[in-house]
Amino acid sequence: MTIKPFIAANWKMHKLPSEASKWASECVEALDNNISDDVMIAICAPATHLLPLSDSFANSPVSLGAQDVSVHKQGAYTGEISTDMLVDAGVTYVIVGHSERRAYHNETDELVRSKVAATLEDKLVPILCVGETLEQREAGNAKDVTISQLRGGLKDITLAEASELVVAYEPVWAIGTGKTATAEDAQEMCGAIRAELKTLYPEIADSMHILYGGSMKAANAAELIAQPDINGGLVGSASLTVDSMVALVEAARS
Ligand code: PEP
Repeated sequence: MTIKPFIAANWKMHKLPSEASKWASECVEALDNNISDDVMIAICAPATHLLPLSDSFANSPVSLGAQDVSVHKQGAYTGEISTDMLVDAGVTYVIVGHSERRAYHNETDELVRSKVAATLEDKLVPILCVGETLEQREAGNAKDVTISQLRGGLKDITLAEASELVVAYEPVWAIGTGKTATAEDAQEMCGAIRAELKTLYPEIADSMHILYGGSMKAANAAELIAQPDINGGLVGSASLTVDSMVALVEAARS
């Protein structure tokens, strides 16, 4: 089955809100008018940037994403942002379980699973991140760790709920390091993820997006996305300038 490639940018904690709109209009201007026929695009931005970006991306091929969400609907949760708030701000995608949140905010599989559920309940699309550390890879546990995170994040998520879900395989040792996984290694892991999705959601697994993330850039994107179980990328550093983002999108198209 052919799956339209999806490039999701993770801006992390970069750029100012005042810079985001200019970036967005330059990016939309630089993208080919027919790009949405060939590639899906999302920018996952800090919360402060979502409203200005929502205006800038209106009627464009670019969707908006958030980088995290609360499991709570509303109430006394200082600093948290709810799914309703994201929907109202024009958001479509939410990164859930990024390794930086697992590492620096102690996010467990249980919490990640609750965030996946909260996101789906409000018709947002989670981009569920899974992947092993270097230590786990070197110990020969890359697949076990990654599949266990996948199972944990999707526990009791039904077929109907999962239909739009995106999974991102992000080996932690490749994120922000400039060390990209080889296409063979990335395919092996994404193939294992697809195989697990087939046991969980046999009816839809072949059409689900599995992204690779970890120092993806225009120079390596085409080879990675040509792999049978890699349907796009979750991209940090290489998404920050308009030129490299547009080059990546074009590489995904080829
Ligand atoms: C990421 O932030 O998810 C990521 C993959 O970053 P980078 O592309 O910079 O490795």
